[in-house]
Amino acid sequence: MREEGTLTHYVGFLTGYHRPSKPRKAHVQRRAVHPQVHPYYRNRGQTSLAAELSGCYNGVNHGIRRIDRTMKTLADYLAATAALHHHICPRQVLGVRMGMLAAELLDLDLPQTDKRVLTIVETDGCFCDGVAVSVNCWVGRRTLRVEDYGKVAATFIDTLTETAWRVYPHPQARDRAAHYAPTAANSWEAMLIGYQHMPAAELLIAQPVILATPVAALVSVPGRRTVCDRCGEEILNEREVHNGTSLLCRACAGKAYYTTATPLSLAFGPIKDAGSPNGNPASQ
Ligand SMILES: [Zn+2]
Ligand SMILES: [Zn+2]
Repeated sequence: MREEGTLTHYVGFLTGYHRPSKPRKAHVQRRAVHPQVHPYYRNRGQTSLAAELSGCYNGVNHGIRRIDRTMKTLADYLAATAALHHHICPRQVLGVRMGMLAAELLDLDLPQTDKRVLTIVETDGCFCDGVAVSVNCWVGRRTLRVEDYGKVAATFIDTLTETAWRVYPHPQARDRAAHYAPTAANSWEAMLIGYQHMPAAELLIAQPVILATPVAALVSVPGRRTVCDRCGEEILNEREVHNGTSLLCRACAGKAYYTTATPLSLAFGPIKDAGSPNGNPASQ
């Protein structure tokens, strides 16, 4: 039994998460989205909201399921990303629309069932999950990277042909959204609804780009391991830095995002009880 909060529960969850390309009926989750979680929904009854947003995804009456190859519609993707957030918002819609556009630009069947597409998003937050569910790219699968420029933009790379398209919102998309949501009560709602209905050419700008780092280096060799000559920590996936005759991790090569406050001792204390990882004796 997977009791929430236990190691078994989390391992079970991750097992499903890491195999999204294999639709397995047994793992399909069907539970209601809780639109009232977001303040937008808090002030509205579900019935009136459903009527108000008729014809587009509104967080109501949509089951939640894991990402699989049968997901193709905007509503499918929005249900999946809303499930990750317990709310739906305009940036998730943008992310999904970008992923759907990427399928056309790269002429690929997305969401992918392999690791052919590598996506680089230029911010974190809700937007990324819209991209992730519509392309089936995940940090945990090494198919999604974050280059944090603070931009709602993404580059979709076909690692086979090395074709890369960078997609970002049209500067006038916010204003034009209102035309596609005439009954929207405010600009947030206009974006939520309008972004779902706007033609891609009015919502997004797509540009072919040439990557500064070759695709092979971006993808690297998964599982390749070495050890930093200075700190002794393991370095994965060819991320070491060559410094003369030595191999260094990025931190020791002077590219660290942190500094250490106190020196570290690697000396072990005596081994106590060989119990379970959560500290309880194995017999419990
Ligand atoms: Zn959000
Ligand atoms: Zn190091």
